[in-house]
Parts: sequence; structure tokens; C-alpha cells
Amino acid sequence: TRNRGREEYMKMVAHVVLFPFPAQGHINCMLKLADLLSTSDLHITFLNTHHNHNRLSCFSSAFARLSLRPHFRFLSIPDGLPDDDPRSATALWDLDDSLRTRSGDHLRQLLTSCRQDGWPQITCVLVDSVMPFAIEPVVDLGIPAIIFRTASACSLWAYHCIPKLIETGELPFPDEPDMDEKIQGVAGMESFLRRRDLPSFCRETGDLASSRALQMVSRAVENVNRARAIILNTCESLEGPVLHHIRSSVCPTIFAIGPLHQLLARAHQYSKEQQLSGNLWLEDRTCMAWLDTQPKGSVVYVSFGSFTVMALDELLEFWHGLVNSGHPFLWVIRPDLVDGVERSSTSTELLLEGTIKRGFIIEWAPQEEVLAHPAVGCFLTHSGWNSTLDSVVVGVPMICWPFFADQQINSRFVSEVWGIGLDMKDMTGREVVEMMVRRVMEGEEGKELKQSALVMAELAKRSVQEDGSSYLQFQSLLHYINSL
Ligand code: UDP
Repeated sequence: TRNRGREEYMKMVAHVVLFPFPAQGHINCMLKLADLLSTSDLHITFLNTHHNHNRLSCFSSAFARLSLRPHFRFLSIPDGLPDDDPRSATALWDLDDSLRTRSGDHLRQLLTSCRQDGWPQITCVLVDSVMPFAIEPVVDLGIPAIIFRTASACSLWAYHCIPKLIETGELPFPDEPDMDEKIQGVAGMESFLRRRDLPSFCRETGDLASSRALQMVSRAVENVNRARAIILNTCESLEGPVLHHIRSSVCPTIFAIGPLHQLLARAHQYSKEQQLSGNLWLEDRTCMAWLDTQPKGSVVYVSFGSFTVMALDELLEFWHGLVNSGHPFLWVIRPDLVDGVERSSTSTELLLEGTIKRGFIIEWAPQEEVLAHPAVGCFLTHSGWNSTLDSVVVGVPMICWPFFADQQINSRFVSEVWGIGLDMKDMTGREVVEMMVRRVMEGEEGKELKQSALVMAELAKRSVQEDGSSYLQFQSLLHYINSL
């Protein structure tokens, strides 16, 4: 009888598999959702590549804590690259190619073996929108697939409009384009979206059909078009009008449940757990004690995320600009941030020597905690969506220096739509950096940006309260999953 009872229970309980693209921002975001779903009594399998599984097991506090939950497990499959491949930020396309051509079969095998491993049958798989290859095996096995888009809704909508932009001749750009010219083909953004704000792939010249980046985008668009539902880490107060376009033109079943930080923080208030990290790098916590010694609102936090790569000259221009601004700064310089400069050969380190009086440099930060520290006055960011939300939820104004992909459009929203930061896209030079820092940290403009950032943080907070849009849409997502 006990066995029969267990069988019945296993049939009733929902089991969700989450599979993020193997990159820091995607993993962080999906881990938060996995945590939330497991807090809501679902069985969770979190799938990584072997490579990131090992890194997470070394550096992530979430990995350690979630592994202890009885109905939560981490599994992994190969990404197809040799074990000794550094999987550096500059080789993103190699990783994408390898996953696309080699990992589908591994996923199929894993999902098949899950059928006999004593866990409940898989209810659905949450597939990252940039991994179309993963949909095929899921659908073939008769398992419902839900797309999880970890980037902004505005970028999803812009990507979706790219085929139309090509059809109407807005893409590719003409020779020597005026990058400030407005784009007409992205509905709802005609008044503020310029050529330079389109996802960076749109800048590629030559034959668009042979652009690897645009091919990836069009695969992602197709993927999203096939989705029966899409989950987004955003909320109505941030991106309501864009969500409306996506609902009416792409997919009616959208769950906008962000910012996931906040939803999770709210859930954890009840269970008294603290926010956990999904780090793939060893975080350096010495900066927290340094922040404690700095005056309130005085520090510029600088981080360009996990993918950005810059030339040494560019890095030095940032350094001069920051030093000349006169404000203290905390700067994340990943070992592979500077193109062609080995951290161990220490040219960067030598060149940066002497900044330490006013600056603090680390290789990886506990970013969410850093941004929540009262000493932090602004965030000089590459405008990755997760970093943008990290800043939004704590009301810290931004200086945006977008690097690639969706970051170009995110930064336009930060500056033009929400008014919570400045956009220094396509600008370089120490004078620009100094001027931007001064504008955000000093004077009336700085005060206004801070005020708007606080209002935005409040709106984001409201969205996860019991009658808030993200809270309600998360409840709908739970119903939806349980009804599958
Ligand atoms: N992050 C961090 N420490 C750092 C820099 C970044 O924990 O020193 C985290 C950050 O909180 C975010 C992710 O890394 O969750 C970066 O994702 P994002 O989408 O901003 O940018 P990407 O790395 O994908 O370009």
C-alpha cells in the first residue's frame, strides 16, 4: 500500500527541468526561478553543461544550498568542447556551434533516462530562448517545452522585428549610416529607438544571411515563435507596453515574473533564507569591508559582466576617467576582460598600480550585495539585463556602456524610457567617462536620476507584492505548470 501511495504521489507532483544557456547571466537568472519553483513544492532538475556544473559546485552558494533540498537536483551533459578548452568570452560562437551540433543527443538521452530514475515524470522543460537545439528532443519526447527568455522584453521584441526591418530595407544599414536616425519598424519605439540602439548584430555589414550572430538571432526568433508559453524576467511596470506587443504578435501566454531577485527575496522572507549566488567565478568578498569604509553614496561600482572584452587602451581610458572624476570606485576586472592581455602577465595590474588609494579592484564581485551597499552611488555597467535588474531593484542609477547583443537597447531604455541613467554607448575617452561620472554623482541631474531610480525600485518592489503583476503572473505560471 505504501508503494501504491508513493506511485500515486509521484504521478501528481510536478517535475520541472530547467536548462540555461551555459553563461553566467542565464544561469543566475534560471537558478532564481528554480529556487522559487522548488520553494513552491515542485521537483526540480537543474541542468548544466559538465563544465559549468563543476564551476558552480566550486563557487556557487546556491549550488551548495539547493543541493541539500530533497526534491532539487543538479544534472549535467557535455557541451561538446574538449575538456581543456578555456571557453573564453571571445569564443562564444564556438560554444554555440558546439552546443547546437552536439548537445541535442545528450539532452535526449538524459531526458529518456529521467523516465526510469525514480523521480516523478517530467511535467515540462524550461528551455533558454537562445538554445533552439534543445526544443527538438523535448518536443520529440512528447514533453511540453516553455521558453525562458532571460534577457529584456524590449530586446525580444526588437529581435522579433528584425525580419521586418530587413523586408522594409531598414536593415542592413547603408554605407556610412547616420546612427542617430530613428528606426520605424519596431512598433512602440518609433519615437526614441535609433539605429545605434538596435541589438549590436544589426550593425554587421556585408551579407546578412552569412552573419553568425544574425543566424543565431533568427534561430532564437523561430524558437520563440514555436513556444506555447514564454517566461520573462521583467515586470509590467518596467516593460508593460512592450509586453503588450509581444502578447499580441508573438505569443499570448506570457509570464512576466521579474525581477526574480525581488520575488525570491519576498519568498525567502518567509523561509528566512538569504539570497544565494550562482557564481561561476570565485567571488572576492574583501570589497565589502572596503565599502564599509566609504561614505554613503560615494562609490562608483564598475563591472562589465561576464562576456565583455575590451582593448587595453579602452580600459586605461576608463581608468583615467574614473581617477580624474575624484570619486572612489570599485572595479571588477575579470582575468579575461582585456583582449590579448593575460592577467598573469600583469601588464594590466602594473598599469593599474597606484589607483588603489581611491579604487578597489577585484576579479569577481558579490554584485547584488555590492549594489545594495549604501556606499554605492552609481553603476558603470555594460547593460547586461541581469546587471540592469540588479541595479533597478536597489535604486542605483547607471552609466551604460553597452558591449553587444541586447545591451544596446537596454541602455536606451535605461536612459530614455526610464530616466534612471546615462547612455555612453559608442563613446570612449577619459573625458567622457569623467563627465558621465560627475553628471550622475554630482549636482541636480544626479539627484533627479537617483530620485527616478528610487521610484523605479519601488515599482519593481510593488510588482512582487501579493496583488502585484509579477506575483500574480508567477501564481499563474504555477497553475499553468500544474495543469500540463
Ligand atoms: N555578476 C556578479 N559579479 C560580478 C559581475 C557580474 O555576480 O562581478 C553577475 C550579475 O549579478 C549578473 C551576471 O553576473 O547576474 C551578469 O549577467 P548580465 O546579464 O548582466 O551580463 P552578461 O554577463 O550576460 O553579459
